Amino acid sequence: MLLIFMKGLKENIINKSVVVKGDYMAQWFKDSEFYCKCGCGRNNIEPDLVMLLDEARELANTTFKITSGCRCAKHNRRVGGSAGSSHLKGLAADIAASSSKKRFAILQALHMAGFSRIGIHKRFIHVDIDHKKPAMVVWLY
Ligand SMILES: [Zn+2]
Repeated sequence: MLLIFMKGLKENIINKSVVVKGDYMAQWFKDSEFYCKCGCGRNNIEPDLVMLLDEARELANTTFKITSGCRCAKHNRRVGGSAGSSHLKGLAADIAASSSKKRFAILQALHMAGFSRIGIHKRFIHVDIDHKKPAMVVWLY
């Protein structure tokens, strides 16, 4: 049953991606949510990431507050991000989650949407689509 649902979901994503890269109109997110938080104006967010986040947000039926999207190198260093952080490449987002119910809803939805790289912090959930890094992993901060 779950498999059939997942298959339907994937087809849905494929249909949506007919809207070619760069033209994807997110239903639940504004462009401004993914800008580097230092105010430098950097926003190289990958549309494929936003598309999957949109799908997950729909499934979770709860708000997704992006606490970190794109980062410039300077801001990344300031917040203690790793040198190879996927945030620098526009491939990652952190979603605020500080209650157990919120964490569960977000994690379940991310999983269903097809995300396979998830980091769990006390106050947020990191998710990225950095295909150069290992898939099917969940780590802790
Ligand atoms: Zn910046």
